[in-house]
Amino acid sequence: MSIEDAVADTGCQDRQIRHERGQRAVFCGLTSIVWLHRKIQDAFFLVVGSRTCAHLIQSAAGVMIFAEPRFGTAIIEERDLAGLADLNEELDRVVNRLLERRPDIKMLFLVASCPSEVIKLDLDRAAQRLSADFAGRVGIFSYSGSGLDTTFTQGEDTCLAALVPVLPEAKREAARSLMVVGTLADVVEDQFARLFREIGLENVHFFPPRDSQHLPPVGENTHFLLAQPFLTETARTLQRRGARHIPAPFPLGEEGTTGWLRAAARTFGIPDERFEAVVAAPRDRARRALSAHKAKLEGKSIFFFPDSQLEVPLARFASRELDMKLAEVGTPYLHRQHLAAELDLLHKDLIIYEGQDVENQLDRCREARPDLTVCGLGLANPLEAEGLATKWSIELLFTPIQGYDQAGDLAELFARPLNRRARLEV
Ligand code: SF4
Repeated sequence: MSIEDAVADTGCQDRQIRHERGQRAVFCGLTSIVWLHRKIQDAFFLVVGSRTCAHLIQSAAGVMIFAEPRFGTAIIEERDLAGLADLNEELDRVVNRLLERRPDIKMLFLVASCPSEVIKLDLDRAAQRLSADFAGRVGIFSYSGSGLDTTFTQGEDTCLAALVPVLPEAKREAARSLMVVGTLADVVEDQFARLFREIGLENVHFFPPRDSQHLPPVGENTHFLLAQPFLTETARTLQRRGARHIPAPFPLGEEGTTGWLRAAARTFGIPDERFEAVVAAPRDRARRALSAHKAKLEGKSIFFFPDSQLEVPLARFASRELDMKLAEVGTPYLHRQHLAAELDLLHKDLIIYEGQDVENQLDRCREARPDLTVCGLGLANPLEAEGLATKWSIELLFTPIQGYDQAGDLAELFARPLNRRARLEV
């Protein structure tokens, strides 16, 4: 099936999807603060949690020595747990101190975590209470990054969904607009903005924006294109505000990027000839960048553990653009509609595993002995010790991988562990 057919056919696929329910090995949604705080530059993420939460964020994001960090943890101490302190008062005190000291913060997220005392705390209400105190100065929101509710990329989904209600209303008579939804590195966003302009799309907004002053308008004339496959709740809340989803593959690799851009171009009635003329040169550049890595990767087998929800688009990229063999593709959640175009591009016989039973999956991985395993940090070390080459899936979130000019870098991320292993063997 070609990518055009795949975009048009958004019906459910007759492929096998196997559900697994068992022990999972995935980071919690707090992890997404690491890329969200880099993106929204006047936002602060205050985790309300335990020392474990603080350690997770600190080690995932690295210690910032020279800059004022834009994330922190309000740690629930033992005396709070014993009920000796009023947690709401304590939280208000921490927020007031933070915002007095940091006038640069224009958007504050209270991020919920797992500990039972935090679960009892009504952070939505706390955000409303504090919003009234800081009205006109700081927007205060709450969302959950708890490991009980979210896997690591779902933290972005709950964060963006919390922002949708405050997006400005697009006027009914306003021209149709395109909203690109999902965090992209600034360099990637700039490339896409330029391509959209050249294609003839002027009214384009990105969500999340780079700062709180540029929240995109939303309304019935808004069409949105998902840049990330893990934004189920965000998409739903946008649709509730009248916006319409543009079915498309995800912008990974030359093929995915072309399908993604083309879906937007067609929605806005851009003639195919104009579209093809604009993308011809970057497509060619991407193909050339891929060819060097393809020579090393074709025929190699790859096994995806469920982790980031990027697995299906990555599997499509690895199999179709690098000619790798898919040993297994697992994903924590599979949104049939958002991934319809991707699923149509994968071989019909491929079984997709949704959910996780980590022990069973480890057994299958050991039996398959893939050339490369894409998995979370917790599984990578033991698998490396067993002689399997691994790639941390979290790296695919921290690295700019979307778009034509990053297609080669994405392939390189897969090639690197194999190159390293080959050098060590020599
Ligand atoms: Fe651990 Fe839960 Fe805190 Fe995440 S939110 S670091 S899973 S305690």
